[in-house]
Amino acid sequence: MNIPLVDLKAQYQTIKPEIDQAIADVIAKTAFISGPFAKKFEEEFAAYLGRKCCIAVGNGTDAISAAMYGLDLKPGDEVIIPAKTFIATGEAVSLLGGRIVFADIDPVSRNIDPAEVEKVITPKTKGIIAVHLYGRPADMPALRKIADAHGLWLVEDSAQAHGATIDGKTVGAFSDAATFSFYPGKNLGAYGDAGAVVTDDADAAEKIRMWANHGRLAKYGHLFEGTNSRMDGLQGAILSVKLKKVDEWRQARRDIADVYRAKLADLAEAGKFTLPEDHPGHVYHLFVIELDDREALLKHLKENGVGASIHYPDALPRLKAYEYLGHKPGDFPYAEALAARCLSLPIYPELTGEQIDYVVDQVQAYFK
Ligand SMILES: *Cc1c(COP(=O)(O)O)cnc(C)c1O
Repeated sequence: MNIPLVDLKAQYQTIKPEIDQAIADVIAKTAFISGPFAKKFEEEFAAYLGRKCCIAVGNGTDAISAAMYGLDLKPGDEVIIPAKTFIATGEAVSLLGGRIVFADIDPVSRNIDPAEVEKVITPKTKGIIAVHLYGRPADMPALRKIADAHGLWLVEDSAQAHGATIDGKTVGAFSDAATFSFYPGKNLGAYGDAGAVVTDDADAAEKIRMWANHGRLAKYGHLFEGTNSRMDGLQGAILSVKLKKVDEWRQARRDIADVYRAKLADLAEAGKFTLPEDHPGHVYHLFVIELDDREALLKHLKENGVGASIHYPDALPRLKAYEYLGHKPGDFPYAEALAARCLSLPIYPELTGEQIDYVVDQVQAYFK
């Protein structure tokens, strides 16, 4: 058997007629950039999240920069981000001239640890970015308290967490502005690059929209230099089709995670690896186990057709890109440990029972 980490072809097969029609509609109207299809998706996505404003942009990295632009980030301002995330969270800060300040993660939730955030706040701190890593919600209530106590803004990088919840409320609604990526492999994925920002702050929303469209509202009369980061009409139309399925897909991911959890419980109890925390709002963008000697298991799985992978092999402060910040090994022990020990098993809504069993069999065979 050959089981990829994610199978976008299998998903397309389940929605082919609607997707093909949506693409044909966009082409018939030649509504290629922004336009009615992107606007319709903005309205639907804002409603889905219970937010007043949604701004569709070109990708999830720009969405983070756009959100911070809307919240008035200025060059030299410090922004606290988790030491374990995809590099985009950091890049978005640097793009605006902001200064990255890392905080370590909580080893159980694997998300930014509010206690660590408090330790690195300085008079220059302007905001905090929480990342719902792997689809597991960050501790937004605790972060909100810290942000309010220090007059900071709070952004959620929700690129991996479409439909994830905290006490039944969807992530993306716990911050001053929340950002999403619709990179094809994300839980809600376009057929190319796309992203969005949501907020309830109409002034911030206007700045965000302008920043993503050359600093303008009308055709000319640019009020400032922004950038070009607009959603394609094709992506908007495709995302409108897929948004209708996102809750169903979320449940399918959670069901698969339950099966993995049950079938791998014995090995986890025997100390072979750690399973991800069983959080009720987790949407399992990735199903990540942790173990010391992961390379041998990864090799065994790959040799047997299981598309396991590593997200991500380095904590951000250990990357060459962030050498200039001068951190030493051991500065972010939990982020570094997760980076050294994480291994992602295939998870996507179309994974069949037979495929799940095959992945489990291969993990069990390795430990025999
Ligand atoms: C994917 C991702 C991004 C960036 O999204 P793009 O659409 O690829 O630019 C940002 N943050 C996190 C946590 C991500 O997983």
